[in-house]
Amino acid sequence: MDIEFSQEDLEFQREVVEFIEKNLPTGMDVWTKRTEWFEALREQGGWDVPKWPAEFGGPGFTPTQRYIFDMEMGRRDTPPIIPFGVGMLAPILINYGTKEQQDRFLPGIRDGSVFWCQGYSEPGAGSDLANLQTSAVLSEDGTHYTVNGQKTWTSIAHIANWIFCLTRTSRDGPKQEGITFLLIPMDDPGIRVEPIITLGGAHSVNNVFFTDVQVPLENRVGEEGKGWTYAKGLLIHERTGLAGIQNSVMALDKAKQAARNVKVGNGTLMDVPTFKNRVGELEVELLALEFTELRTLASVSAGGDPGPESSIMKLKGTEIQQRITQLNLEASGIYTAPWGSQAVGPEFARGATSAYLSARAFTIYGGASEVQKDVIAKNVLDLGSSR
Ligand SMILES: Cc1cc2nc3c(=O)[nH]c(=O)nc-3n(C[C@H](O)[C@H](O)[C@H](O)COP(=O)(O)OP(=O)(O)OC[C@H]3O[C@@H](n4cnc5c(N)ncnc54)[C@H](O)[C@@H]3O)c2cc1C
Repeated sequence: MDIEFSQEDLEFQREVVEFIEKNLPTGMDVWTKRTEWFEALREQGGWDVPKWPAEFGGPGFTPTQRYIFDMEMGRRDTPPIIPFGVGMLAPILINYGTKEQQDRFLPGIRDGSVFWCQGYSEPGAGSDLANLQTSAVLSEDGTHYTVNGQKTWTSIAHIANWIFCLTRTSRDGPKQEGITFLLIPMDDPGIRVEPIITLGGAHSVNNVFFTDVQVPLENRVGEEGKGWTYAKGLLIHERTGLAGIQNSVMALDKAKQAARNVKVGNGTLMDVPTFKNRVGELEVELLALEFTELRTLASVSAGGDPGPESSIMKLKGTEIQQRITQLNLEASGIYTAPWGSQAVGPEFARGATSAYLSARAFTIYGGASEVQKDVIAKNVLDLGSSR
């Protein structure tokens, strides 16, 4: 395994850093100048859609360039891209969609004019996703599907224009084989969206109900019954992406700065051994995770897949993110009691409670921690069936 960067890769790294230093808006401008930032990325040769291949207007990065790009962007807290369109649906359309579907949907995904949400999970189908029951029945003349059922935990469904959905078209044979991938406009009169307010008081997830929704055949991606194959490959990549190592490095740095502002005896919270040790443990674990990511990169660069190691990244990465929010919460002390619009106290304390509460979901979505442990036991540690 070779985890040294080549001269060309180091050159590319310099190019990315220079680009960010020149173009990244700072301070309040981060919000007002987002559009300019994404335009600059686009003009750089498709850097606004880093996962897309060159023939679709992307940069056609090698796996190593992609790693360097993500690392440098993550280190500098650049404006995030909503993942559902650019990062999740677009690669499926590029790999399995028709030319008409690509021409119709990719431009709106890229320029941000069309918001997509992901309709996979259902009340009885989360970890056991293949158990999904939302039905899609093809009309006798073969022109459209009629969809009935419910999706749940659907992020941004209340503001999305379209939903990409896994639906059941057959109950014969293995349950993975009867699943079909459909694209459905959210303004269909048969769709009802109900908010789910989460622990942190935020409205980002929803229940979505489908009643006799008519979906034309041209909105089916790939073949009937093959939706599971299309969705599955991407879930592995989604998990790797959720590790958020560079963001954690930055967040841990902020937590340390916060702790240095909290007086304890003659010193600060950072001098308290029990606190300092936990910071040290997190630093070591982050470093170990970074090396795991590099090992995955070495395998992908050699033509392999991220493979089941992506489960290690997801599991450890999200646990670390949660533990950092816990440190920040402790550093913020009494100021964590009033929060949201009532927030008081020093700057670092203001988002501490909502960040801590929102982070509870990190070990659930994208594949719950227990499920990742199962994958690691069977496929990485070769422990056979854990049940
Ligand atoms: C904030 C948030 C946003 C989300 N956004 C979306 C979205 O946009 N689109 C979408 O489709 N979904 C979304 N989800 C859903 C998410 O993917 C599911 O919540 C997740 O897959 C877990 O499924 P579940 O909630 O049904 O829990 P379950 O699968 O019922 O799990 C319940 C508990 O049982 C454990 N468990 C389950 N199976 C096993 C097993 N085999 N072995 C050991 N333990 C097990 C789990 O780890 C968990 O602790 C979101 C979830 C959250 C919290």
